[in-house]
This record gives sequence, C-alpha cells and structure tokens, in this order.
Amino acid sequence: MGDNKTELQKVEREASEDKSLPLRETAKNLVFGKGNPNAKIMFVGEAPGRQEDEQGFPFVGIAGKNLDKLLGKVGLSLEGVYIANILKYRPPENRNPNPEEIKTHIPYLLKQISIIKPEVVCSLGNYATKFFLSEGNVDLMDKQPGITSIHGKAKFVKIEDVRFKLIPLFHPAAIIYKRDLAPLWEKDMEIVKKEIELNSE
Ligand code: URA
Repeated sequence: MGDNKTELQKVEREASEDKSLPLRETAKNLVFGKGNPNAKIMFVGEAPGRQEDEQGFPFVGIAGKNLDKLLGKVGLSLEGVYIANILKYRPPENRNPNPEEIKTHIPYLLKQISIIKPEVVCSLGNYATKFFLSEGNVDLMDKQPGITSIHGKAKFVKIEDVRFKLIPLFHPAAIIYKRDLAPLWEKDMEIVKKEIELNSE
C-alpha cells in the first residue's frame, strides 16, 4: 500500500482507462477529484457540469466558486478538504444520469472514500444526499427525505464494505439563488467541524 496520493492516482488512471465507463464517449475529460488526499472532510456532488468537463476538475464553475467562498467563510480551503462527484463524466447537457450509469460509476467513488477514509462525508445537495441515504441503491433514491428536512444531520451510511459518517449539506449552486440558505450552510459546517474535533480527541 502506498500513500493516499499515489493510491488515488492509481484509481484515477484505472478510471481513465476504463473504456466501458458510461458517458466517456460524450465527455471531454474525466473529472476525478481535487484537494487533499489526507483530508478529514470529503465533499461529494452529483456530476460534473460544462466547466468541470472542460477543465477536468470538480466544482470549478459557478457552483464551485460559491463553494470556495463558503469554505472560506468557515475557515477552510482546498488544502483541508477533498472534493469529488458521484459521476466521473459529465452527462450530455447536464441531463440526469440513469440508474445504470450511476451504478457503473459508484465503485470509483467508493474507492476514493476507502483510500481517504474521511471522518465525515458531506453530500452536496438533494441528489447526492438521496444517493447516500439509499446506500447506493439507486432504485430507493425517490423514497429518501429531501435536503431541506435533513441538512446538518449526521448519519452512518454503509455502501458495500465502505462505512462512513454522512452529513448532508445544501448544494452551493442552490445557495447562489437562495441567499438565505448561506447562514444554514455555515451552521451545518460548524456541526461538521465539531464532529472532526470530537474524533481527534
Ligand atoms: N455540481 C456538482 O454537483 N458537481 C460539480 O462538479 C459541479 C457542479
């Protein structure tokens, strides 16, 4: 076993060479992840958008700029967190990914979580939250509660053999249009930070 950075690079190479990974044909770049491979907090969004597809990194477009701003407000930056998406390729025109596409992409996200072993995984927005709450069973996603009722509430989640503490957060893109969500996001992040302090005592 190498260090986290090397292990992540290996998985990224594996994903980029996986010719059967859906959406590869229509995307420009694989969008694997960014940030600190030894982070205690991991953020997970749904799928890359246009800017992410162009640049090959998650959360670099308008939502990403807002995420950077929100992280700054709670004293964090990319140096202290790791950011990824469920889907590693952009669906054409940002359409919703279908269950088969999600199922084929899941193993790469699970490998990222297994390597980094974050103390907390924060799902960004409704979609990623429903994905985690249904423990990777895409058919159960519709039955999960929405982000408005469960943001900031910690829950243990187990997908295959990977177990972690989930804390759902509003999506940074939603906060651009609904400014009153920003203070709630900051409050939720205080909960995240407290969890991490608790774990390192
Ligand atoms: N929204 C997401 O969920 N992920 C990104 O990488 C960008 C926007």
